[in-house]
Amino acid sequence: MAEVSAGKLFRRIHHLRCRERDLAAALTALPRQLASLQARHERAKKARAESADHIKHLQVTHRAKETAIKSHTGQVKKLSDQRDAASARDDFEALEREIAHARHQIATLEDEILVLLDEIDTANGKVPELEAAIVRAHTEATAFDTEMTQRKKDLEQSLTDVRRDLAERDLEVPREHVSVYNRIVAGRGPDALAPLDGLSCSACGTTQTGPDAGKVKRFAFVTCTECGCILYLSEKDEKELD
Ligand SMILES: [Zn+2]
Repeated sequence: MAEVSAGKLFRRIHHLRCRERDLAAALTALPRQLASLQARHERAKKARAESADHIKHLQVTHRAKETAIKSHTGQVKKLSDQRDAASARDDFEALEREIAHARHQIATLEDEILVLLDEIDTANGKVPELEAAIVRAHTEATAFDTEMTQRKKDLEQSLTDVRRDLAERDLEVPREHVSVYNRIVAGRGPDALAPLDGLSCSACGTTQTGPDAGKVKRFAFVTCTECGCILYLSEKDEKELD
């Protein structure tokens, strides 16, 4: 009878050990998930701040170019007065050239301002999207932080239950197999056990001998000839035996 219970027992133990690993991993992941959401919030705030700096820089440049235009316009006015008062032809032509040069500079600055205004418009257009991203990231991080306490408690409770259940099942391992069981499980955790898939070990894929597969089907204690996993009958195969 011990052999019969051993076979079914290992399926249960495998399930519990996998669940223990998953729960422990989920618990470890919680602070990491929170940190990742908080980092996203910080990145969103940084993107908004960088955009504000960029817009400010464009506006400063814009004002500087407006001031330059004013200065060149004053220059044109001054040069025009000098030209109108010039009596010598050479002076007149030299002043004309200077006026043309100043006018050309004004035109260039005006073109540059148009480009700048376009850039400012584009950057301003992106602000609502950047602000929405901050709100979204903040909401998600805060919600996760609030729920995390309860989620942590639930996971810890489930882990305690699973470990208690597992300790009880471990006590049911037949005495003659305990040392082998403990050794394999200590080294591999949940990967110490595997269901038989047809005639093959589902952990390493190695086909088992007929007698060994037969033993698994009779719920005896069998380890894979290749990887050493404790083999057990899958629930589906067990149902087919009935
Ligand atoms: Zn194997």
